Amino acid sequence: MASSALILDGKESARELRESLKPRVEALKARGITPRIEAVVAGQDPASLAYVAMKQKWAGWVGIESGSFMVTEAVGQSELEEVIDRLNADPLVHGVLVQHPLPKHLDEDAVLERLGAEKDVDGITSASLGRLTAGLHGFRCATPLGITKLLDRYKIDCSGKNALVIGRSNILGKPMALMLLERHATVTIAHSRTQNLAELCRQADIVVAAVGRPELVKGDWIKPGAVVIDAGYNRVEGRAQDVGDCDYEACAAVASAITPVPGGVGPMTVASLLSNTVDAAERIS
Ligand code: NAP
Repeated sequence: MASSALILDGKESARELRESLKPRVEALKARGITPRIEAVVAGQDPASLAYVAMKQKWAGWVGIESGSFMVTEAVGQSELEEVIDRLNADPLVHGVLVQHPLPKHLDEDAVLERLGAEKDVDGITSASLGRLTAGLHGFRCATPLGITKLLDRYKIDCSGKNALVIGRSNILGKPMALMLLERHATVTIAHSRTQNLAELCRQADIVVAAVGRPELVKGDWIKPGAVVIDAGYNRVEGRAQDVGDCDYEACAAVASAITPVPGGVGPMTVASLLSNTVDAAERIS
């Protein structure tokens, strides 16, 4: 199927965003402040380690210092909470990222709650989510924030549009829905118990798929001219490349604009995390 959809290029948009951070970092450094982000990693999950390494690479590229607190898989709750306390108290650390999932024996919510809102550059503590819900200033969750920055970059207006967010996780679906609401979209949230998902999708001007099910969203679910944002990232056996939650070719044949996987939402998540870290360093100065 031929596609005329505009490809929302996350790689290029993330490059631009990172580029825009460099002079801000230099200005901070000229005043003796070096933005710093720390990742807290428990265990040796290869995907988590790869993700943290990528964040550190791009942080260095922008001029942000980064480090990681690697603790063993067997770390105890109080030991991990003490690490968070130390980072909260360290004036040289501006952002802290708790890499999830944490090992199963740990209470992840309690660890996150320990993190000071002023250092929550991933925007996932209840304080940050509460501030988003109330429309108050605060750190916004990195993945949905990256999506809004991508929409802005391509001047996609959400006001008055029907937006469907598929997925309701605290790190993606829920904050995404709230951020679209902030942009005056009429928002519907779908999840695993939603009935008639295809029908809901056909009514949407903007679809954000945040599910974790390879190619769940079919081309004939998309309203002609709709904007399709695919946050999914799924490894499928026998496929050389990870696939999203949308059937890309079929959706691109109908949509007016679409994010590719890879190269869409993913790069914007990391760039947004760095952007939040620079904001954090500017706030304390
Ligand atoms: P999650 O916590 O597993 O949440 C998935 C959501 O999808 C849940 O709300 C679930 O509903 C819903 N769902 C599951 N099956 C469904 C179905 N058949 N129909 C409708 N809804 C369904 O996942 P997540 O952490 O939000 O991540 C979602 C996807 O985004 C994953 O592919 C992940 O890899 C990707 N991701 C990408 C980035 C990035 O930077 N690009 C960052 C984070 C996540 P219930 O609530 O009812 O269970």
